[in-house]
Amino acid sequence: MVPDEPAGVILDRLSSQITKCRRCTLWDGAKQGVPGEGNMNARVMFIGEAPGEQEDSLGRPFVGRAGKVLDSLLAGIGLSREDVFIANIVKHRPPGNRDPDPDEITACTPWLEQQIATIRPPLLVPLGRHATRYLLRRIGVEFVKITDISGTVFEGEPFGFPQKIIPSLHPAATLHNPLSREHLKEDFRKLGDLISEMENDARI
Ligand code: SF4
Repeated sequence: MVPDEPAGVILDRLSSQITKCRRCTLWDGAKQGVPGEGNMNARVMFIGEAPGEQEDSLGRPFVGRAGKVLDSLLAGIGLSREDVFIANIVKHRPPGNRDPDPDEITACTPWLEQQIATIRPPLLVPLGRHATRYLLRRIGVEFVKITDISGTVFEGEPFGFPQKIIPSLHPAATLHNPLSREHLKEDFRKLGDLISEMENDARI
């Protein structure tokens, strides 16, 4: 890395490296890598699990049905995709949308770490249990059920500087489940409150 290199240059280089990555075998069954996208100065970063079929086809995160749910939740708290950065813990689609295995997560997350180190968002929102487990482990927190801890605010230095983490259910988990949908809306209501609080603190 060149000192004082602009964030956009670093993120573009990471995207290009991710598309050529062969650190695990997931690239073999995928059409392309899905590095992530959004505002390089984002104060909020959303982190999902892995690309699905639509994402694999288009090379963009959260563009299928779950992405539409995410767009609508973002709009509900006054945000758009242009305001935030959206990525996944695993950058190539697992076959048949299976869960990424621990070795794949270990192989892939250094890419995410570099994206976070470049953008330095003060707030991380893991979507679903895999991203939540990965982020909370970095501050020494283990959990059993995502529904027990979503909407809770955690603080720590998961990447060597202070950040807040507020886990949420994954939008895909709510597509056929009205109860989960209400839970997810509540997670985003708490997220909206936290963002307002952080903006007010920044003004003081
Ligand atoms: S999933 Fe991640 S580690 Fe595996 S090949 Fe793709 S970018 Fe590399």
